[in-house]
Amino acid sequence: MSNNASGDQINAIVVGAGLGGCACALALKHHGHSVTIYEKLRTFRRLGDSLGLGDNALKLLERWGGRDLHHRLTSIGNQAPDMQIRRWHDGKILAVQPLMDMAGYIGHRGDYHAAFLDAVRDAGIEIHMGCEVANYEDEAGSQPAITLPDGTRAAADIIIGADGIKSRARELVLGFTDAPKSSGYSCYRAYFPGAHLKEDPLFRNGEEFNWIVTRKLSHEADMEIRESWFQEGDLEDVARVTATVDPRIRAAVAKTPSCLDWKICYRDPLPTWVSPRSHSIALLGDSCHPHLPTSAQGASQATESAAVLATPSKSTKLPSLNNMHDIQTRTYEKLRFARTRASQSNGEDLRDRWHNALKDIDDGVEIDPESLKIRNRWLYAFDAEADTLERWEEVSSLVSEELQTGNITPLC
Ligand SMILES: Cc1cc2nc3c(=O)[nH]c(=O)nc-3n(C[C@H](O)[C@H](O)[C@H](O)COP(=O)(O)OP(=O)(O)OC[C@H]3O[C@@H](n4cnc5c(N)ncnc54)[C@H](O)[C@@H]3O)c2cc1C
Repeated sequence: MSNNASGDQINAIVVGAGLGGCACALALKHHGHSVTIYEKLRTFRRLGDSLGLGDNALKLLERWGGRDLHHRLTSIGNQAPDMQIRRWHDGKILAVQPLMDMAGYIGHRGDYHAAFLDAVRDAGIEIHMGCEVANYEDEAGSQPAITLPDGTRAAADIIIGADGIKSRARELVLGFTDAPKSSGYSCYRAYFPGAHLKEDPLFRNGEEFNWIVTRKLSHEADMEIRESWFQEGDLEDVARVTATVDPRIRAAVAKTPSCLDWKICYRDPLPTWVSPRSHSIALLGDSCHPHLPTSAQGASQATESAAVLATPSKSTKLPSLNNMHDIQTRTYEKLRFARTRASQSNGEDLRDRWHNALKDIDDGVEIDPESLKIRNRWLYAFDAEADTLERWEEVSSLVSEELQTGNITPLC
C-alpha cells in the first residue's frame, strides 16, 4: 500500500509504453514509487527508423537502469565520430560536426524501445499489453482513474498520459481536440538491411541503411493531414524528386525495398499539461511536447520529463493542507515547459536554416558552414533531476499558492 499521506510514495498509472512511458515508469520506480503501465498494442514490433538519444537522457537512464542499460543504449547508436553536411547535387562537403554535439547517438527507434522495455521488465514493472485506455475520470478531491473498453477500472494517485502524438489524455486535459497543422513539408523515410549495398563501391560498412528525404508539399491532397507512422510512401515519387541529386543518394533510393510517407506536423504549445479538476492526470512526451525531426530530442526530452515528474523533493516545507499530488503535477509542468519549448524551437531554427541554405545553394551562394550546424550541444549537459531539486522549493511554493487561490497561470 502506498504511503500517500506523507507524500513519499506514489501509486502511479502510466498510459502508453512508448519510450516516454517506459522512461517515466523507470524513473518512478527508481524513486521508490509504485507504477503500472497500460499499453494499447498487444505486442511491439521494430517500428520507426532513426531516432537520436542525447547525453541529457542517457545520464538519467543510467541512474535508473544501471551501467548495463547505458552500455546497451550506446551500443545501438551510430558510432561515427562526425556528421558531414553535403551539397545536394554533387556531394561537396559544406560542414562537418561531431555527432555527439548535434544529435547524440542515432539508432533504430525499435532497438532503443526494446532496450527501454527490457529495463522496465527487469525493474519488475507490470505492463498490461492490449489495454487501450478508453476513458479518464478527473474529479476534484477524488483519485483519478482510467477505464478500459471492457469496463475494467483502475485508480491511482497520479496518472501519466504518455500516449503519444494522438493522445486521448490530452483531450481530457485541454477539454478539446488539439488538431495537427501541416508544416507544408513531408518526409519519405526508409530503413532497411544494407548487406546488398556493401557490394556497391558507392557505399561502405554498415549493416543497415537509413535515408530521409524531405519534400515541400505542393498539392492540396498532399496537404491533407494524415499524422501516421505507418503510411506507405511512393518510391517512384522518391526517385522523381531525387533525380538530380548526388548519385550516391540515387543509388541508395534505387536499392530501397519500401518507405514511409510521414507528414511533418506542428502542434501549438499547450496552455496546460495537467487535468483541470483532480490536477492528478499529467501529460508526458509527445502528448504534450512533440518535436520536429530536426530537433533530434523527442525521446530525450520525454526522458527528462520523466525525471522531473518522479523527482519531487521530499524536504518540501509546504502547508500540510496541500494535496501533494496536485503540487507534484503542477510543479512538474512549470519546471518543464520553458526547457521543452527551447528544445522544440531549436529544431524549428535548424529547419529554417537548412531550408534557407537550400535556396542559397540553388542561387550559387557560398554557404557559411556554421549556419548549417545543429546547435544542440547546450542541451546535453543538463541534469533534469539536479535542476528539479534545485528549483523545487521555489516553484512548488508558487504552485501551492495558485492551487489555494484557484488561479492557475497558463503555461503560455
Ligand atoms: C510507431 C512509431 C514510430 C516512430 N518512429 C520514430 C522515428 O523513426 N524517429 C523518431 O524520432 N521518432 C519516432 N517516433 C516518435 C518517438 O517514439 C517519440 O517522439 C518519443 O520517443 C516520445 O515517445 P512517447 O512515449 O511520448 O510517444 P510514443 O513513442 O508515440 O508512444 C506512445 C505509446 O502510447 C500508446 N498508446 C496510445 N494511445 C493509448 C491508449 N489510449 N491506451 C494505451 N496506450 C496508448 C501507443 O501505442 C504507444 O506505444 C515513433 C513513434 C511511433 C508510435
